[in-house]
Amino acid sequence: MTAGRAAPLGPGATIGVLGGGQLGRMMAVVARQMGYRIIVLDPSARCPTAQVSDGVVVGALDDVQAARHLASQVDVITLDTEHVPADVLAELEPIAPVRPNASVLRTIQDRLVQKQFLDRIGLPQASWAPADDLDAALAKVGRPAILKVRRAGYDGKGQQRIDLDGDPHAVLAKLRGEPAVAEEVVRFTREISVILARGLDGQIAIYPVAENVHRHHILHTTRAPAPMPDAQRKRAEAIAVSVAEALGHVGAMAVEMFELPDGRLLVNEIAPRTHNSGHYTYGACATSQFEQHVRAICGVPLGDPRALTGAVMVNLIGDLWAKGPPQWHDVLARPEARLHLYGKDAPAPGRKMGHVVLLDDDTDRALATAQSLIATLAARS
Ligand code: AMP
Repeated sequence: MTAGRAAPLGPGATIGVLGGGQLGRMMAVVARQMGYRIIVLDPSARCPTAQVSDGVVVGALDDVQAARHLASQVDVITLDTEHVPADVLAELEPIAPVRPNASVLRTIQDRLVQKQFLDRIGLPQASWAPADDLDAALAKVGRPAILKVRRAGYDGKGQQRIDLDGDPHAVLAKLRGEPAVAEEVVRFTREISVILARGLDGQIAIYPVAENVHRHHILHTTRAPAPMPDAQRKRAEAIAVSVAEALGHVGAMAVEMFELPDGRLLVNEIAPRTHNSGHYTYGACATSQFEQHVRAICGVPLGDPRALTGAVMVNLIGDLWAKGPPQWHDVLARPEARLHLYGKDAPAPGRKMGHVVLLDDDTDRALATAQSLIATLAARS
């Protein structure tokens, strides 16, 4: 069956989700609102997605038997994380359509293969090299450099910086033998991301470009639309579209980019799923990234991605829970603020627990509000 000819799955169909984190949870909330059913596979029966689902299969994401059990109960399978082994997805494809499919995941979930793919389709990225031969890699990318593990790294986990001085082999040893790539350290002026969704029929809906600030490698704030000239926006969109088309991706997707002082854009990372920097779309846009993902994987028409307002999103990280749950009054008291909590019961430093979206056409004001809300929450925790 070719993707284009697959029958649409209307409301009433059952969506299986591999992985039960916050992305699955927010998709499940929207999917159920639309009349779809959700069954999730996760090691925990109390995971964020299971709390809002119709059913849960308890099992590890590499447990083929558990994944097959899920597949036998659903009409389509999708992912909360790109770290589900592609081999597991390939086992499920004969049972139910998997969107995005195993081939997309094979390209994305290994950083080295992802970078080779970007080179092959001619998109600009930071200078990189496999770290197996570290001296040769550093001769190519220079110093300072960043080492990133090829698999299963996220939010800066599995990354080590090689500075101008010191022993680079000692830094590599910190990765405990995990295969890695080395990257030049990019001196960017800012980070942006383009979220889009690509339907089964190839239709693409693009969201306003987001401007992202990371702290300690974790996304801190997103502002959308990112202030930028039209020509630059079009360049960013064209990069994201060419990634989605070259992959034959189906579903929501994020392409993170570095913007350089001379305006050039380098692709940093591709996420074949809904993305933290697209959380603002839930509230700010006519159709959220989560609804768009459901529409795309179910083969029904995509919705309108247009922003109805400007927005700023600020992540709520586990550190804010250091002295107990934060007091939410100041957030809830602001009419433009939307609070999202993910139902995680073990706050840990660096763990994403929730986020706040501020709906405001004046995104400078919203950024200032976000900073002051976080400062207040931090002071009280
Ligand atoms: P990643 O997990 O690769 O998205 O990295 C997380 C964050 O670390 C990025 O959003 C950047 O803020 C920073 N970062 C990653 N790679 C580089 C790089 N090559 N140069 C400079 N900063 C980087």
